[in-house]
Amino acid sequence: MKYDYLIVGAGLYGATFAHLAKKAGKTCLVIDRRPHIGGNIYCENVEGINVHKYGAHIFHTSNKKVWDFVNSIVEFNRYTNSPVANYKGDYFNLPFNMNTFYQMWGVKTPAEAKAKIEEQKQDAVEKMKAAGIEEPRNLEEQAILLIGKDIYEKLIKGYTEKQWGRPATEIPAFIIKRLPVRFVYDNNYFNDKYQGIPIGGYNKLIEGLLEGTEVQCNIDFLSNKEQYEDLADKILFTGAIDEFFGYKFGKLAYRTISFEHEVHEVSNYQGNAVINYTEAEVPYTRIIEHKHFEMFGEEVEKNPKTIISKEYSTEWKEGMEPYYPINDAENNALYQQYKALADQNEKYIFGGRLAEYKYYDMAPVVELVMEKFKNHL
Ligand code: UDP
Repeated sequence: MKYDYLIVGAGLYGATFAHLAKKAGKTCLVIDRRPHIGGNIYCENVEGINVHKYGAHIFHTSNKKVWDFVNSIVEFNRYTNSPVANYKGDYFNLPFNMNTFYQMWGVKTPAEAKAKIEEQKQDAVEKMKAAGIEEPRNLEEQAILLIGKDIYEKLIKGYTEKQWGRPATEIPAFIIKRLPVRFVYDNNYFNDKYQGIPIGGYNKLIEGLLEGTEVQCNIDFLSNKEQYEDLADKILFTGAIDEFFGYKFGKLAYRTISFEHEVHEVSNYQGNAVINYTEAEVPYTRIIEHKHFEMFGEEVEKNPKTIISKEYSTEWKEGMEPYYPINDAENNALYQQYKALADQNEKYIFGGRLAEYKYYDMAPVVELVMEKFKNHL
């Protein structure tokens, strides 16, 4: 055996694993079927702007160890995510906070906002009571209980159904709980203590994590399995678990995203990194203006051009890049069948969003890998 670990996938999970394994004195080979490292956090520099090629990523965590760790690889900037929602031409702040409530209803104090939300959710509460339902069964019920029907209808329903391609009544409730609801005038999308973007872009993070580790791109592990399997004692697989097992129990559902990237000859196109289009009629879910992740104040105007990306969400089919696992009951049950097989395989570790079929953010991925190596750190 030439290496302690063969790491399949040079995304954040694989790269963090390689870094910590190396620190623990292990040897690793990292392979990836794409022509570049970084998985979905990979950026491409166009016109001096880092373009998040596979969708916008904002690092956020409350775990100081995770924050210190990533900052030891590359320093992070002070970017704070404050998306704006465009509903039929009207603008609302996100996440749902006093600014949103004022824009939606004209209420000014937390007490007024709370009273309004109580009134807005009354019908739904009564319906659930009459039906003997205690816990919200899906995203629609959960959203109305959290925030009432106006916000659900204008800022959630259309966006959610475009993103997930199914009715909100068929989407798991936990997804809407990712978004904070707060009764202060605070547009920070995350409640976490720390957030930001690596200075110089995400490629710096991945390159830093993989420094000193052998990496081969353009290698499709599953079509070269015999050749690569014998190179290492242990294999970390970070690809899709159903694909690994040849879809033998059937295909897991994923959403995929496609992008229309545009260069505009203006220094500032939309005045914010993220604008969500929350009505059903606009075909894309959001427009990202990449420079705002890394350029602030006068820096924005210094570059006379800007890059924007319109994001379209579609159902995944074989040959496309899977992005979001659909963690509904049916798919989770199918995943459990694959997991049972995976658990019997001592040579392999399955980790990350695709191999664990879980809607992970970046920080929990780093945290998971750090946890694996905690005895060595
Ligand atoms: N969401 C919404 N309206 C918005 C933004 C988000 O209804 O303007 C809902 C939607 O269901 C989405 C979920 O909140 O799937 C989680 O959004 P998040 O921004 O966390 O998704 P990500 O950035 O991971 O795509």
